[in-house]
Amino acid sequence: MNKNASDRIFISVGSNQGDRWAHLQRSIFRIEAEIGPVLQCSRVYENPAQGFEGDSFYNCCIEVSSSFSPLEVLHRLQQIEHSGGRERTGQGYSSRTIDLDLLLYGQQSILEAELTVPHPRMEERGFVIYPLLDLGIAKLKHPVSGKSIQQLAERCPDEQPLIPLKNRLLCSVNEAFSRLDYLAIEGNIGVGKTSLATRLGAEHNARLLLERFEENAFLPSFYKDPQRYAFPLEMSFLADRFQQLQEQLPQKSLFCERVFSDYHLSKSLLFAQVTLEADELRLYKKLYELMQLSLPQPQLYLFLQQNPERLLENIKQRGRPYEQNIQADYLRRVEEGYKLFMQQYPHPKLVVDVSELDFVQKTEDYQSLLEEVAVFLSRN
Ligand code: ATP
Ligand code: CA
Ligand code: CA
Repeated sequence: MNKNASDRIFISVGSNQGDRWAHLQRSIFRIEAEIGPVLQCSRVYENPAQGFEGDSFYNCCIEVSSSFSPLEVLHRLQQIEHSGGRERTGQGYSSRTIDLDLLLYGQQSILEAELTVPHPRMEERGFVIYPLLDLGIAKLKHPVSGKSIQQLAERCPDEQPLIPLKNRLLCSVNEAFSRLDYLAIEGNIGVGKTSLATRLGAEHNARLLLERFEENAFLPSFYKDPQRYAFPLEMSFLADRFQQLQEQLPQKSLFCERVFSDYHLSKSLLFAQVTLEADELRLYKKLYELMQLSLPQPQLYLFLQQNPERLLENIKQRGRPYEQNIQADYLRRVEEGYKLFMQQYPHPKLVVDVSELDFVQKTEDYQSLLEEVAVFLSRN
């Protein structure tokens, strides 16, 4: 079973449980990471469950390039099914979060206890044969019967309805990020916005727009005497951020480069809500609204959610002297403010809970954060 350079690998991907789109897209990203580049994805089709009672399926087929042997590919597919929440319930067919079947592995014909290739039931299934046609392989021959995929489609006995969805799946996480022209990353103090924006920006060739926090002369005084310095602090933050965004963001709808930022103007409002008295806040909001209206909105507002304990640890670790007195309660109030704000923010937004992730230190956590964002982007 030696791998031939021209071997083309086709995999069927299906889900009828939970968030079906997310299961399909996430397992494609996992296949890309653990098996090999995903060269193309068919359309996604919705079709009724066959052979058992259950919700309807989303199905698609993909072409993958890999240097792993067929058995190794099968084992990796099973591992991905397992981490995608697939539970095998013993005998027979049942609902599944994700099902990954190896359909074709070049012209190989394999009959082993664990693995049969070509997949023995592929020609009976419309939800396999029609997606394969999407991949432009009408003339490709089934290695056992010698019939082309086109001929198999013409003879396919399956008469179940097969409805293509409008949206297309993405082949890779990179593809998702390459479509983003303006990303704003937000979150509480110490959550890791700058680290994330910087790393993402470098990987996806984006211009970084980073907050100029050191330059606010009121900040050290504010942390010592919040009541006295809150208003000038918030006003100067607002003015600085607005000026920076206005200077550095291209005009609305004139994006010809990618911009990744570690803040959004709303950050000013959120902190002001925590630090200002009611009458100061009213005045502040008036100015904020005016500024806000003249700026382009990010294609994605990504909010990183984190608990105050982890934030405090991060703040301690990075050791900026004037931040060391920040209290958990202050962070909690800021986090609450963001939550409320996110609920009514009307543009594309995503909240990711990063409390179980260490995306700065651990590559796999960074990857899983990116995948979550990419799944979100794939829906639009
Ligand atoms: P079907 O194979 O009819 O689509 P299924 O996908 O529901 O059914 P599973 O429970 O996912 O079946 O898999 C049962 C077994 O099939 C697995 O343990 C696996 O070893 C074996 N198998 C044999 N050939 C293949 C193949 N080409 N792709 C995936 N699994 C295979
Ligand atoms: Ca199957
Ligand atoms: Ca299977």
